[in-house]
Amino acid sequence: MTDFPSQPETPDISAPLNLSEAEWRARLSPAQYEVLRNKGTERPWTGALNQNKETGDYHCAGCGAKLFDSDSKFDSGCGWPSFYIPADSTAIAEHEDVSFGMRRVEVTCAKCGGHLGHVFPDGPKPTGLRYCINSLSLSFERR
Ligand code: FE
Repeated sequence: MTDFPSQPETPDISAPLNLSEAEWRARLSPAQYEVLRNKGTERPWTGALNQNKETGDYHCAGCGAKLFDSDSKFDSGCGWPSFYIPADSTAIAEHEDVSFGMRRVEVTCAKCGGHLGHVFPDGPKPTGLRYCINSLSLSFERR
């Protein structure tokens, strides 16, 4: 048999993205890595997108998946970008988080598992939810 190099498979954009820690470190800035892969939290009021009021889409800074729409962003006053609903119900995964002596619901990117922030039941109508998201976990695309 002729030894042809194997053909790359067509990438499945809906498939989970599993990278090694070395690949994540190469792809992300140290600050992004600390939040997305190490479940860190940026200091309030420091995020570049906290006060962003432009119309567009918020994507995962780790893998590019669309996570939030600017239509659902609201001024929560908490110091982190806040949204009342994800762009798509399958874009985000929720996990119980009992770290730091609190009972919270962590939200992660469903595609790459990156830590985004937490969701709290004190948001505005229509959902009553506040997705409190680290700016470092997001990239913004103007529309
Ligand atoms: Fe992601």
